[in-house]
Amino acid sequence: MDINKVLKYNFPIISDEYRKFALEKDKCRKCYIHTNYNQVCQSEGNAKNPVFVFVGEAPGSDEIKEMRPFIGAAGQRLRMELRKYKDVFTKENALITNTISCRPQGNVYPGDSDPGVKTCVDSWLNRELTLLKPKIIVLLGGAALSAVRRETGITANRGKWKFLSPGTTNLDENGNVKKYVKVPSFFSHLKAWTLATFHPSYVIRCESEGNTYVGNLFSQDIESVATMYKTLLSDYRYTAKNELFTQDSKYNKYHTPKGGLGNLGLSLTGEQMAQQLGLISGGAQAKFPY
Ligand code: SF4
Repeated sequence: MDINKVLKYNFPIISDEYRKFALEKDKCRKCYIHTNYNQVCQSEGNAKNPVFVFVGEAPGSDEIKEMRPFIGAAGQRLRMELRKYKDVFTKENALITNTISCRPQGNVYPGDSDPGVKTCVDSWLNRELTLLKPKIIVLLGGAALSAVRRETGITANRGKWKFLSPGTTNLDENGNVKKYVKVPSFFSHLKAWTLATFHPSYVIRCESEGNTYVGNLFSQDIESVATMYKTLLSDYRYTAKNELFTQDSKYNKYHTPKGGLGNLGLSLTGEQMAQQLGLISGGAQAKFPY
């Protein structure tokens, strides 16, 4: 498939830097995973300044054929959930990607400590996130949780909002954020809100066995992402409306908002954003000031 057509189709908005990144990734042969199916899968969505990035696990057969992430059964389950919030999740403000970009043999994820996975996370996911600087990262399943937050145990960690901010601390013994999650050094420039939830393929598996509990939690988590977005947006508008930015600009804390979602929170540091929101972790228990 012609990579230029793929880029045109997958990315309604794309920066020159991201185009270079995607062309380079298309040719990647850095690890053994590529040898299975000989095809790199690209991401999809806003490849310049997305508010959201959704990180899955790995492409499957449908994804490799079309060079688009999340278009198989799991993708349909995810997209069904996102369509409930049409005013929030759009191709223009979100990007969908994977922890690794080539399809593993038989769709079996090689594991967090696999050298191929590590190479791909360091080479591509890390670069993609730091290039795009999303405001919110949704971690779909354990692979993404491990790659971005360096945490294991999706069941224990799902539904908890955590803010990635370089060089700051810390979690209490229950895993609640007292201040901020310490970010792995290779994400040292990345600041973003993150929420972990189940991978939609696990949701489908549970639902096919008659277990609706997991699907309900998954729905709650996606709703929580939509709520967070609206909260951040309110915060942004509130800031503009009340001219807090003027008040604080003498301390260099806020810049004059220019309008548009592309600027959402752009001028806020993580710490300031967290202060604005009265950060308390804990997913459904999270308290917001609005
Ligand atoms: S899995 Fe990632 S690092 Fe390995 S060849 Fe594919 S794109 Fe490159």
